[in-house]
Amino acid sequence: MLDTPIALPVPINEPILSYAPGSPERAALKESLAKLSNECPDVPHVIAGKASHEGASFDVTSPHAHARVVARAHEAGAEVTKRAIAAAMTAAPAWARTPFAERARVFSRAAELLAGPWRQVINGATMLGQSKTAFQAEIDSACELIDFLRFNVHFGSKLAEQPISTPASQHSLELRPLEGFVLAVTPFNFTAIAGNLPSAPAMLGNVVVWKPAENQSLAAYHTMRLFEAAGLPPGVINVVYGNGAPVADACLASPDLAGIHFTGSTRVFQALWRGVGERIASYKTYPRLVGETGGKDFVFAHPSAELEPLAVALVRGAYEFQGQKCSAASRAYVPQSMWPKLKERLLAHIAEIKMGDVADFSNFMGAVINERAYTRLSGWRDRLKKDASCTVLADAGWSREVGWFCGPTLVQVSDPKHDVMQEELFGPVLSVFVYDDAKVDETLALVDSTSPYALTGAIFSQDRAALAHALAVLRQSAGNVYVNDKPTGAVVGQQPFGGARASGTNDKAGSAFNLLRWVSPRTLKETFAPPTSVGYPFMRER
Ligand code: NAD
Repeated sequence: MLDTPIALPVPINEPILSYAPGSPERAALKESLAKLSNECPDVPHVIAGKASHEGASFDVTSPHAHARVVARAHEAGAEVTKRAIAAAMTAAPAWARTPFAERARVFSRAAELLAGPWRQVINGATMLGQSKTAFQAEIDSACELIDFLRFNVHFGSKLAEQPISTPASQHSLELRPLEGFVLAVTPFNFTAIAGNLPSAPAMLGNVVVWKPAENQSLAAYHTMRLFEAAGLPPGVINVVYGNGAPVADACLASPDLAGIHFTGSTRVFQALWRGVGERIASYKTYPRLVGETGGKDFVFAHPSAELEPLAVALVRGAYEFQGQKCSAASRAYVPQSMWPKLKERLLAHIAEIKMGDVADFSNFMGAVINERAYTRLSGWRDRLKKDASCTVLADAGWSREVGWFCGPTLVQVSDPKHDVMQEELFGPVLSVFVYDDAKVDETLALVDSTSPYALTGAIFSQDRAALAHALAVLRQSAGNVYVNDKPTGAVVGQQPFGGARASGTNDKAGSAFNLLRWVSPRTLKETFAPPTSVGYPFMRER
């Protein structure tokens, strides 16, 4: 097929549906939840377009009702992964020859199917498997994934800006896919990221082995079905489930590994990077390493900040989706003059938070993802309660009997360098350091230097000069900065997302920055009247 580019309109972000009582989307979502609750699919690996149920099976349960099994998936292990790599490499030549416009049509179709008939399937799966409320599922598995697909088509169609030609020679630049396959390893917390990490390289002509997080297997299963329904050819994306280590080991051992598209913890990304480094001489090409990892996201309140928007941003930023967002507000710096009133407002908001089964739409919070997360977080809670330098101001609602429920927790620290101000907890725990109003500069230095991460941050200030100063001091402290807003909720096309330092390679998912990592440009020069003598004029005597 000829590569006939199409003039596409600039995409607009998918509107967020309200799910208000009486709305058609609310009825459709409830129906989908009821249906999905009774299905319990046996999730297959998909290799060369064929389903495979090899490997020991494991249960995927609802975090808010952990006795309820919502899917079964299988441990891929090394042998299944090797077959997935082989299938990808077999599909590579034809997919690389497929014109961008044709590849893009598959993903444009996936976006339209997701905006329409598939919306409540993938929202429902995300709610059941990952314990997201209807709103949190809608902004993730519907809107953000639709936006990733549409905006990547848009940005991808604009990447190949052509070099200048002359009358004597014509020049062109061709964007080839990487030579080999891309390993996409995705986290449990965003269905949109899980869908984007394999599809973005595939859109640029690459073939992919995709390993979703175990706890996200249900929504990943439906996402793969969506890609297939949209016409993705067999072998372009091969999905394998289960423990990441044996899958990654098999991929890193392959000379054809051309890239890793990772989102998850800093520890795992560093292990993958190390593994590639150790084998660097064995690869046919230098693997591209793209990783978005952890965060310890700050909220800095200047003494001029408005109180109520700050309180709301802290509560939403810290506790929505149980604080399991890489961008969650997790450390706050509040001036002494504001703290008594702010504390009162925070405690009042926290007292109103309802937590429970996400199928009950009156709940603001669900449960944390699994027992491991619950145990880790309750360990932190016990430690903070015993620590004389910490005052736990709120921690109601923790229970593990039915689901992994961690209540919204607020802690005030007297030591601004306490571990709870430095480490990513990945749960609904907000720590606050109250600073002397006269020490704004010292506090900004603390914000910058306390944690190894640099993902998101928010500055609340009504004083523009103070805001400009804070933005300058905190220039390297976050890849996504919010002014008078919470540090979560980046929208594709509006706030390209990613952070530096220990938070990742900052390749900004859903933007041209990211797509450029998945292409290997080739330039071509064609000379129309080539020279026919070796010597140059300067060599002549006269
Ligand atoms: P995780 O690192 O535990 O798991 C991520 C993926 O890596 C999963 O698919 C997992 O199975 C796999 N994995 C685990 N161990 C592995 C190993 N040894 N080798 C290869 N793969 C392995 O992370 P998670 O708990 O799923 O997600 C939470 C983390 O993700 C948090 O740190 C969060 O900040 C981060 N995150 C970052 C962003 C971002 O854009 N910066 C977005 C979402 C999540």
